[in-house]
Amino acid sequence: MKYRLLGKTGLKVSALSFGASSLGSVFKSIDEKEGIRTVHAALDAGINLIDVSPYYGLTKAETVLGKALINIPRDRYLLSTKAGRYGEDEFDFSAQRITASVEESLRRLNVDYVDFLQLHDIEFGSLSQIIQESLPALQKLKEQGKIRYAGITGYPLRIFNTVLKSADVDVILSYCRYALNDSSLAELLPQLKARGVGLMNASPLSMGLLSRQGAPSWHPADDVIKKACRQAAQYCDSHGLDLSKLAIQYALANEEIPTTLVGTANPNHLAKNIAWLEEPVDQEALSEVLHILQPIHNRSWVVGRPENN
Ligand code: NAD
Repeated sequence: MKYRLLGKTGLKVSALSFGASSLGSVFKSIDEKEGIRTVHAALDAGINLIDVSPYYGLTKAETVLGKALINIPRDRYLLSTKAGRYGEDEFDFSAQRITASVEESLRRLNVDYVDFLQLHDIEFGSLSQIIQESLPALQKLKEQGKIRYAGITGYPLRIFNTVLKSADVDVILSYCRYALNDSSLAELLPQLKARGVGLMNASPLSMGLLSRQGAPSWHPADDVIKKACRQAAQYCDSHGLDLSKLAIQYALANEEIPTTLVGTANPNHLAKNIAWLEEPVDQEALSEVLHILQPIHNRSWVVGRPENN
């Protein structure tokens, strides 16, 4: 496993990290024991960063992850969870709710502190509240030793520009913006570097779009995007290749991206994802897939409040 520096935190994170949303049956119903085995296999393979949220599976992902972590020495992993989002349409970024949420997460996760606490999907909230109330609440939690670093997550890149201009954050989590179909996150990299902000890049499979099985029914991409990604998957299938392999290799190849979170509760998928990091990239297939996806390159979808997109 390769390790890269996460902004000014000084922490070295595994280039491939573990997205625990799958443990909440977000993509499909999972076998809990298999999910726990997947977490252990990830740690054994050298993955040292795990990301979760109370929102995933409406607390189920944190609860299953807590069971997986119960006998694991605390210094073997870096743990990131979130606050502010609690349901499809349930958001509360008030200081009071965030503080209570962190206590609830610590209990579910069976830990005394989390390494990262990120405000979850801030494009659904008021960015002035995030700056004036929510981030200062995280500062207090840092002082109390409940969290080590504070961050924000979301889909529209504009939210990061706005918040970073006015507030100090240690890390950000961006998803679906550095993948074969959308690499617009690259534009933000110089600013993150200049400010020493650690980047967690999530969803290199674009939440399933870039896989053989395709996107789940709730996926927000429009039909044009879905169709192009299906074409790319079909091209790979017909050449005996796996689109997910190219997708993971593509995201992980960028040395400026400290870590990329892939979600799975399936030990076979995890084993493949780790093995793919060591294998050479099929440059011809990569060029062909990028060509197929060119008409939809950087085509995004709207998430959250209109003014935050
Ligand atoms: P992803 O792009 O990692 O795709 C996950 C899907 O791909 C799942 O259906 C999984 O079973 C499948 N998959 C994984 N490995 C595969 C393989 N080898 N072959 C075929 N299919 C495979 O998307 P994700 O899980 O949404 O993102 C990763 C993590 O990033 C999440 O678990 C979460 O921790 C984080 N995340 C955070 C936010 C946020 O904060 N707003 C948003 C998205 C993701």
